[in-house]
Amino acid sequence: MEMILVGSDAFVRLIFFGGIFLGFAFWEGLAPRRVLTCGKGARWRNNLTLTACNTLMVRLLMPGGAAGAALVAGENDWGMLNWVSLPGWACWLLALVALDLAIYGQHVLFHRIRLFWRLHRMHHSDLDIDVTTGARFHPLEIILSLVIKIGAVVALGAPAGAVVAFEIILNATAMFNHGNIRLPSRADRWLRLLLVTPDMHRVHHSVIRQETDSNFGFNFPWWDRLFGTYREQPEAGHLAMTIGLANYRDRKWLRLPWMLLTPFIRADSRPS
Ligand SMILES: [Zn+2]
Ligand SMILES: [Zn+2]
Repeated sequence: MEMILVGSDAFVRLIFFGGIFLGFAFWEGLAPRRVLTCGKGARWRNNLTLTACNTLMVRLLMPGGAAGAALVAGENDWGMLNWVSLPGWACWLLALVALDLAIYGQHVLFHRIRLFWRLHRMHHSDLDIDVTTGARFHPLEIILSLVIKIGAVVALGAPAGAVVAFEIILNATAMFNHGNIRLPSRADRWLRLLLVTPDMHRVHHSVIRQETDSNFGFNFPWWDRLFGTYREQPEAGHLAMTIGLANYRDRKWLRLPWMLLTPFIRADSRPS
């Protein structure tokens, strides 16, 4: 079963990614939260080209991905969940929650460690935030994330099926919580007890540093509340807030060559 899941991983994820992307893009058109300052044309072209290149790169570099590492760990009895006898569903649940905590921790480190921030700041230099921002990550950040994820998967002994499920869920929630989607405030309040909502993650894309350094969660909102990094709303309000980074206001940073150069150019965005 797990072999089949891992074997069809790329295909399954492509189908999910395409379908969910179109769904959220349609939703953004029907009920947009903000008027985009730069529009979609060039941003979407560049963000989506980068996403396609990143997907291809990961497939070529590590065809088995994190799920392949989970299979190897399972065969060799590596990792905590392989040392205890728990029902399958409990292993899945623990793996999903623990991997989400690992991704939260990694995101905090990408903001705190200067070298990591150089890679991550490209995600924040988008001047608008919508469904395409959810996959706008520098290729070097993607590789580093994959190495960290494989480390977490092996240390945990996560079931391969749970790893595939986690990645599909993460793709979907990242598109959802970056979406320029208007939700009734009551729905947002209830939903954010369980899930990071677009309004919650938008705070993280604010140009104000204290707001950028908050709401690090991707799936579950609990880690931010637990570790004191939760911020309910942006100071300026969702419609008036400025998205992006203080020193990356030029529209050239929306173009692919400049996006790729972002870690190496000393226009460091962090106003100290
Ligand atoms: Zn971030
Ligand atoms: Zn984001």
